[in-house]
Amino acid sequence: MEGGVTIRRFAIEDLSDALVLAVREGLLAWWEANRRDLPWRKTRDPYRILVSEVMLQQTQVDRVIPYYERWLETFADVRALADAPTADVIRLWAGLGYNRRAVNLQRTAQAVVERGGDFPSITAELQTLPGIGPYTAGAIACFAFERDVAFIDTNMRRVLHRLFHGVDVPVSTATDREITALAARMVLPGDGWNWNQALIEFGALLCTARKPLCVVCPLQTACAAFPAIQTAIAELPKGSPKKREAPFKESNRYFRGRVVNALRSRPREGIALAELGPEIRPGFAEGDVAWLFEVVRGLERDGLATIAEDEPGYDAGAGDEPVDLGSVKVRLP
Ligand code: SF4
Repeated sequence: MEGGVTIRRFAIEDLSDALVLAVREGLLAWWEANRRDLPWRKTRDPYRILVSEVMLQQTQVDRVIPYYERWLETFADVRALADAPTADVIRLWAGLGYNRRAVNLQRTAQAVVERGGDFPSITAELQTLPGIGPYTAGAIACFAFERDVAFIDTNMRRVLHRLFHGVDVPVSTATDREITALAARMVLPGDGWNWNQALIEFGALLCTARKPLCVVCPLQTACAAFPAIQTAIAELPKGSPKKREAPFKESNRYFRGRVVNALRSRPREGIALAELGPEIRPGFAEGDVAWLFEVVRGLERDGLATIAEDEPGYDAGAGDEPVDLGSVKVRLP
């Protein structure tokens, strides 16, 4: 018992061949009947897979599709992205949020070009590229090079957890290591591409976080979480998204996003902080300039903004003149 809840411990050695087979067959049959025809599923180009994976990290599939297509019209291959002005890259990312992803994507492209222009095909080598973690490396190795590798994202983790470890809310009862071992055991030799796509799709459409469609699930009889999952979800506290919204509008991330948005529509020479401030925060006063300067410095550290160093007032410490931060100009890199 943990916290009054009976935990069903699952050991991977207990996983019978019959259960593995039943889950694979059921899931792949569901996939064949329900798969969405998404643009990144029609390609084996590692650059296109990378772009889709980075966009999908924090954004829903339906929203990503038009951005993905527009992106590839502008930056058709890894060299086009690597060579582009970073300001153009950030501008084209407008609307997707989490702007650092755009800059990191370009850094990855630049690293690939520096190494000759070809993506490596194995996960260990892919992970030596900047911005590529275990999930993205696995996704590129599998979806571009059709390697039978295991990797886990939130959807895959949830499905594997429920199927083999049981109910995953309010707390997970399996470690990432255990889920990764499960994922490796379940990958279908010779068809890892379909298996991993199926697992992701199943978690996105059927075994969702808050509304799993257990009633119509073809894996019911194999699933360790069925039927307790519905009760466990119904008992979760409600209303957390609303509570999160209020603090976000005062968060550093919120203001960083506003600054980058404002800079997108500015000419190359940029804008002075005193002029930018009122666009960023209602009631912006002279005393807020130092705060805005720190926000902008953080953006500069992340490659999302450039502080104009030729601005006379920015030359802090030169002579006895007070530093006029309000006249400091900032622009996209
Ligand atoms: S029965 Fe429910 S919890 Fe189990 S895999 Fe199917 S949808 Fe997910």
